[in-house]
Amino acid sequence: MVKIRDIVGYLEHVAPLAYQEDYDNAGLIIGDPSVPVEGVLTCLDITELVLNEAKERNCNLIIAHHPIIFRPMTSLNGRNHTERCIIYAIKQQIAIYTLHTNLDNVSWGVNRKMAQVLGLHNLSVLLPKPGTLSQLTTFVPQSATDHVLRALYKAGAGYIGDYIYDHVATSAAGFKKPTAMAMTHPVVDKKLEKVEESKVEVVFPVHLESSVLRALQAAHPCREAVYYVHALKNTDVGVGSGMVGELFQSISSQAFLEYLKAKMQLTCVRHTAPIARPIKRVAVCGGSGSFLVHAALLKQVDALVTSDMRYHDFFKAEDQILLVDVGHYESEVGTKALIRTLLSEKFVNIAVLECSTVTNPVHYF
Ligand SMILES: [Zn+2]
Repeated sequence: MVKIRDIVGYLEHVAPLAYQEDYDNAGLIIGDPSVPVEGVLTCLDITELVLNEAKERNCNLIIAHHPIIFRPMTSLNGRNHTERCIIYAIKQQIAIYTLHTNLDNVSWGVNRKMAQVLGLHNLSVLLPKPGTLSQLTTFVPQSATDHVLRALYKAGAGYIGDYIYDHVATSAAGFKKPTAMAMTHPVVDKKLEKVEESKVEVVFPVHLESSVLRALQAAHPCREAVYYVHALKNTDVGVGSGMVGELFQSISSQAFLEYLKAKMQLTCVRHTAPIARPIKRVAVCGGSGSFLVHAALLKQVDALVTSDMRYHDFFKAEDQILLVDVGHYESEVGTKALIRTLLSEKFVNIAVLECSTVTNPVHYF
């Protein structure tokens, strides 16, 4: 029987919580992890209508993109939409899990989905996230080096994306203490024994630190492995904000806007003035992406498609790129299907349903 903790464990394996932004609150927000899952509903926002839909469709776990709780709460009286939803979910025993900026920041997440809708290829992360990599350095008797390295690889160390990043130096020499008995024995030689050691250095994603260190201690022949860990300035190019890709053919700004409206089923978009050169390289960011205009300029894209652009944000395009605001809900609506597909492929015996309630609070006239 699949329990909530099984689904949570899988989601946090593929979209680690360590990849969420500082301000975020992704994770299990409401619910008991030990409860069996009857059905899962995927949505963008938690509303009372969404909770009703979950109840009617026998789903006791909702996976939402936007967290219903962002900041610590001091009371829970049902005075606003958020509090009413929380009380209702608890009363109805509906658990709520949120996959938010951690799903934005993984390379298979929200932005890849958006890029796929637009038919982009040659995809790469627009702005890699800092602080996602660490390096472990340890010393291992040479005879045990392969064994320890294999254990570290198995725990997820030694790779950045598809590349192996490790370093083994075999010139180090360590000294083994005599045993406690030898130290006190009047005739036993108390000389230190010299042991040829390897200095082993491997990179690893920060969220795997505890499993990498457990693997090290388990595989290392000494009772206590000596190691140190430090943060790397390098970024993992597979983790970060926005995504850049290319259209299969260059088109004018006007043709691109029409293409965008058709592909994303939009009724209207807000955008900067058309640019003279054709549009080929396109950056996308689901949700609020005004912080990426500078990165898009540096990457020399032709267009940035995102949402929540304020009046002054449009000036940041410097007439160099076509900046398009497609609406927050519209940019992320594909996330419901993305999470449904992810979970239904892994948990084949659980009903995973896409929410049919439209939660977009913005209407156009
Ligand atoms: Zn959003």
